[in-house]
Amino acid sequence: MATNADPGFNTLAIHAGAQPDPTTGARATPIYQTTSFVFDDAEHAASLFGLQAFGNIYTRIMNPTQAVLEEKVATLEGGTAALASASGHGAQLLVFHTLLQPGDEFVALRQLYGGSINQFNHSFRKFDWQVVWADADKIESVEKAISPKTKAIFIESIANPGGIVIDIEAISKIARRAGVPLVVDNTLATPYLCRPIEHGADIVVHSLTKFMGGQGNSMGGIIVDAGTFNWSRDGRYPTLSEPCESYQGLILHETFGDIAFAIACRVLAMRDLGPCLAPLNAFLLLNGIDTLSLRMQRHCDNALAVAEWLSGHKKVAWVSYAGLSGDRHHKLAKKYCPLGAGAVLTFGLKGGYEAGVKVVGGVELFSHLANIGDTRSLIIHPASTTHRQLSERQQVAAGAGPDVVRLSVGIEDIKDIIADLDQALRKA
Ligand SMILES: *Cc1c(COP(=O)(O)O)cnc(C)c1O
Repeated sequence: MATNADPGFNTLAIHAGAQPDPTTGARATPIYQTTSFVFDDAEHAASLFGLQAFGNIYTRIMNPTQAVLEEKVATLEGGTAALASASGHGAQLLVFHTLLQPGDEFVALRQLYGGSINQFNHSFRKFDWQVVWADADKIESVEKAISPKTKAIFIESIANPGGIVIDIEAISKIARRAGVPLVVDNTLATPYLCRPIEHGADIVVHSLTKFMGGQGNSMGGIIVDAGTFNWSRDGRYPTLSEPCESYQGLILHETFGDIAFAIACRVLAMRDLGPCLAPLNAFLLLNGIDTLSLRMQRHCDNALAVAEWLSGHKKVAWVSYAGLSGDRHHKLAKKYCPLGAGAVLTFGLKGGYEAGVKVVGGVELFSHLANIGDTRSLIIHPASTTHRQLSERQQVAAGAGPDVVRLSVGIEDIKDIIADLDQALRKA
């Protein structure tokens, strides 16, 4: 890395944050499978606990395997610092716990992962954090949803259930005017396709469980701090701008500057709420990220070929994939994701609910399950599974009507992927 001052994305995906182990020379990042770390002496211990020195204390707060993952993802996203967590939902919990006080509000686009909709509507309300929903297709609804209590805006870059690209810059301008940070869930895009910080995001979150790890074997999440937001401007973020009782009155933003948000998430929210990433999972996720560029490009190429093939199929009513040149999100996809529009897409069957159930029952190569971002091709019929509890009207509003099938296109040979869909559609 030292020979080139400006290494490219492929190089960084492999090398950023990952030095040979200083003690053993191990080239792969070791799994530091330990809960705790020995102090040099009493003074060292005291300085670690007072945040005067950085260092490992206990794996809930910090661990060397997690640290490599954090530095790598922060570098790939163009942020100042990161904090890994046990899952994507864990990361979201830590972000909002750091931003919000009871009674505060945040604005989120309706076009979100179903689990996030549940988290915001139900569990977050128990903390008295109120979500106010807006619509990606009506940008003005974001502005309208803002009130004096709003403390953040939350969006996805490429949005669920599939095929939607969000106008990050337009929403970041609204966030700037409102004086609140823009939080972007970059799970479906990964930094290979889109780097939200370059478009005005202040905080990026990921479910590393999906394309980042990419092999469907480990849960994980991460928070990336862009270092761009002024937390001290108007006293609306007391966790960052006011003296911290549990650290002898230290003011986190004053002390830590452009990494203050990531530090606050670690030394307060993670310390007290606890969804930390297992060192073994950090290792497996790191292995996945080594090949992120290769996998994402193949995912995108395969997804586009599948979308084009489905568009010409007589049993298919419509296809939603921003990579298709006729798609209503194609212009946004070219701007924000020039290398490809991701691997998750939805399509509608002329045969409705019955046909959807037959297609997921008829696939052989595709796996019928509730996940995305595996090397393997995945399929689900939301109306009979993830969105089963909703009314038909609610299903349609969520983009998961009775006729909808969602694919996460894998990296197998494209001829085999299409042959499998072909035989399954024939049975429907
Ligand atoms: C899966 C997912 C999450 C939640 O992540 P977990 O790792 O499953 O907790 C959040 N956002 C998006 C877009 C996801 O796909």
